[in-house]
Amino acid sequence: MELNLKCRSVVWLRRDLRLKDNSAISKAITFNEPFVICFIFDKEILNPLLRGQFATKDSKSLVKDRRVSFIHNSVKELDESLKKIGSALIVKFGYSHEIIPSIVKSFGAKKLICASDYEPDAIERDNNIKKLIQSNDVEFISVKDQCIFEKTEILSKSKKPYTVFTPYKKAWLEQLTINDLNKNKHKSTLEKNIVKFPNSLQFHIPSLKYMGFSEEASLLRFIRTGSSGAAASLQEFLPKISFYKTERDFPALSATSEMSIHLRFGTISIRELVIAAVKPEHNYKNISENTIAWLSELIWREFYMQILFNFPHVISRSFKIKYDLIEWNSSETLFNCWASGLTGYPIIDAGMRQLNETGFMHNRLRMLTASFLTKDYGINWQLGEKYFAVKLNDFDLSANNGGWQWAASTGCDAQPYFRIFNPITQSKKFDPEGEYIKKFVPELKNLEKKYIHTPWLAPENVLNKAGIKLSIDYPFPTINHDDARKKTLERYKEVRS
Ligand SMILES: Cc1cc2nc3c(=O)[nH]c(=O)nc-3n(C[C@H](O)[C@H](O)[C@H](O)COP(=O)(O)OP(=O)(O)OC[C@H]3O[C@@H](n4cnc5c(N)ncnc54)[C@H](O)[C@@H]3O)c2cc1C
Repeated sequence: MELNLKCRSVVWLRRDLRLKDNSAISKAITFNEPFVICFIFDKEILNPLLRGQFATKDSKSLVKDRRVSFIHNSVKELDESLKKIGSALIVKFGYSHEIIPSIVKSFGAKKLICASDYEPDAIERDNNIKKLIQSNDVEFISVKDQCIFEKTEILSKSKKPYTVFTPYKKAWLEQLTINDLNKNKHKSTLEKNIVKFPNSLQFHIPSLKYMGFSEEASLLRFIRTGSSGAAASLQEFLPKISFYKTERDFPALSATSEMSIHLRFGTISIRELVIAAVKPEHNYKNISENTIAWLSELIWREFYMQILFNFPHVISRSFKIKYDLIEWNSSETLFNCWASGLTGYPIIDAGMRQLNETGFMHNRLRMLTASFLTKDYGINWQLGEKYFAVKLNDFDLSANNGGWQWAASTGCDAQPYFRIFNPITQSKKFDPEGEYIKKFVPELKNLEKKYIHTPWLAPENVLNKAGIKLSIDYPFPTINHDDARKKTLERYKEVRS
């Protein structure tokens, strides 16, 4: 059905769920023609979540997924904002290759505008849709939005993508100009060109239940959604930036920004974050060490994005392919101990339980738990990567793959294979009081600080006083770290020679 509304472009939101500093919307505004904005709950993405190996269900057999709840809330917020200016967000549930051409057709639009996506599946989806709409004379326009520098914009002197972070970061900082941050600033406004809908025309947002997902409010207990949530989290973090470098590694301190979910779904723009951190009006002078440390993390994000784009084999193989030959341990029992936070190493168990309970895990713990799975249990990093992909609220293919390959030493610029985190010394160093452990492993909450990192070394009377019976309330260590370390060195040496 053709809608009798004057409309030239359709803006398709995906990982850019915001109105402010949105490159696709900005592009539509520059054409100075009427446009509409849509979002698709894509079955291609949702179906695997409904059938996934690690999917959990509520009492009504609906799948609990915090990310889908996050998107749903954020989309509702966008719709409310658009309704305030007489428009609405067009939200549909189905396959994007069917729905997008049909929306374009029903509005009689001549342009489809979206933000570029760099994951191989998304590239294939976009190419497919491009072909479908171009056959009807509709132009497909994609614009950079997710990152400051994309694809091959940062290359080494020999015109190759960087595979080492430090020179990449140096080149990134040298190339950054104020224009990269202000690219979406223009005089015209969204209100002027967005199509206004008559009250008689109602668009409904499909409910989570209709799509097979749980509506339990508790799923979002620890998460702020939408652009309003992103803005609130940023305001909370900015005063902490002055301590970022020194405090960021201590999981009990909550010293990091927790912006990752917002960057993942684009409820805030990367440009806004960089501007908030470096205050470019000061001409990039006097940027403190702490701010640089935080900015470096944002640059790591782009480093891994360009690795995925330029070396897509990392999705199914090691970046350094010789490591594909490693003979991993295939113990399901050990994998399950790791996944459920029952390894017997309190710091590892706290990390995994934080992930399972909240969908977030502190970066130090991501490094430790990934190292533990691959270098203490000797289990293939790809299994851990898959588990994180299901559980992390901020799951991002490039950052997750990069993080896992870093920890397993199979990646570019990775941790050297012989550097193996000791879960006891790391625990003592980064959770000295055991506060983080006690929060997520409550059965140890009454244990003396001296034994919180190594409960199996506590004398009987200390355990009794804390109300702990080892192997009943909390496991003995499932592996001896020193023995595991030796095995891992052998395992890696074999494929290196
Ligand atoms: C095994 C492993 C898996 C990971 N999986 C993911 C993932 O799926 N999604 C994800 O966003 N991050 C991932 N990371 C990176 C990092 O742990 C998280 O980005 C960070 O913990 C998010 O918390 P924050 O927003 O408070 O970070 P902050 O310390 O405040 O950092 C600011 C932002 O920089 C980015 N960032 C920080 N560290 C990294 C990094 N090492 N690599 C890439 N980007 C980074 C994130 O977007 C983050 O929000 C992973 C790291 C490891 C070791």
